[in-house]
Amino acid sequence: MNVRLRNPDRELQVAGGRKVKDILAELAIDPDTVLVIKDRTLLTREERVGEDDSIEIRPVISGGAKSHRPLTKCRRCRQPAVIELRRHNAAFCQPCFLKYFEDQVARAIKHFDMFGLEDRILVAVSGGKDSLALWDMLLSLGYRASGMYLGLGIGDYSDRSGRVAHRFAEERVADLIHVDLREDYGFDVPAAGTKGSRSTCSVCGLSKRYIFNRVALDHGFDVVATGHNLDDEAATLLGNTLRWQTEYMARQFPALTAREGLVKKVKPLHRLSERETAAYAFLKGIDYVVEECPLVAGNTQLRYKDTLNHLEAGSPGVKAAFYLGYLDRAADRFRDQVAGEGDLVACERCGQPTTGRFCAFCRTRAQVLGDRLSPPADDQLARELSDEVLPAEVYGRNG
Ligand code: SF4
Ligand SMILES: [Zn+2]
Ligand SMILES: [Zn+2]
Repeated sequence: MNVRLRNPDRELQVAGGRKVKDILAELAIDPDTVLVIKDRTLLTREERVGEDDSIEIRPVISGGAKSHRPLTKCRRCRQPAVIELRRHNAAFCQPCFLKYFEDQVARAIKHFDMFGLEDRILVAVSGGKDSLALWDMLLSLGYRASGMYLGLGIGDYSDRSGRVAHRFAEERVADLIHVDLREDYGFDVPAAGTKGSRSTCSVCGLSKRYIFNRVALDHGFDVVATGHNLDDEAATLLGNTLRWQTEYMARQFPALTAREGLVKKVKPLHRLSERETAAYAFLKGIDYVVEECPLVAGNTQLRYKDTLNHLEAGSPGVKAAFYLGYLDRAADRFRDQVAGEGDLVACERCGQPTTGRFCAFCRTRAQVLGDRLSPPADDQLARELSDEVLPAEVYGRNG
């Protein structure tokens, strides 16, 4: 039988006529880190695959391996299950899994008072499973959710991501705002990684945060929603905890309220794992970009994810206990530690809030472009700034 493996894409022939778990064991693949797909349906590890069948093994997370007693019946309705969730010691059929997913999102929105039906939500869309699953869920729950795609200029990966985001929007007749880093800001992520002092992923993350906030302000959105999932948040928390970066821990919350110049930010998928968002996207027929960003090797978060996956393999649920336990029992202790909370001023170049004269985005951009940063004192800069959001008093003081 034919097996298609992803990331990187390759095909191989293995013996059929046996259970999924045996094929995965032969390939040394942890069943909890992949979706196994045949003819657009998910297979559990107990299902048999024929000699003439063709399956796709789609990775959803990295790391960990250990076998356990398989669950084959849906916890809610006792029908055959399509997915096992070890951390809940449960399995679900398709309708019950989709209901579980919706309940988790609804619970997050309500518990953190993220937004209401009247609010205009800007979903940060990358073309990957998380952001498209989030957008799909919010639309199906009746929220006013528009998407924003930021072109990062990462070759074929960005081209494909942009196409996927646009197709998703067209199919649902949803609004999508497209911003291109190179066209609109003069640089792209790969180039930025080779110049300046920040790593590629650091410039990328900074640019996303900055531009999503700015676009949301310019277009009058009430809130920016991102597809960060439980695995992302647990990995970030682990990284911050290992170094006791309490000012970052203080900001690591599923809902950050709006402040002058900063739009409210929320993470409605924070209760759901990466594998769950991948399963949701697949079961809803969402075409998402399975390939990882080719620059991901430089992403330090992966090491923390890998470590947590190893822990999770031995103690299912430990990842959720770590992160959700932090939110319940520890996060409040750090709330007053956000660096410079009280002293935000407008960046002298772009007007976005910052603690120094120029915001981190303007400083980084200037470094990448080989620009000198100076207050808006000459005509050229004033022209350049004319269509930017600058509080009048700051612009006036320097111009
Ligand atoms: S892996 Fe790094 S460069 Fe690629 S999209 Fe993520 S943050 Fe950006
Ligand atoms: Zn069911
Ligand atoms: Zn700035």
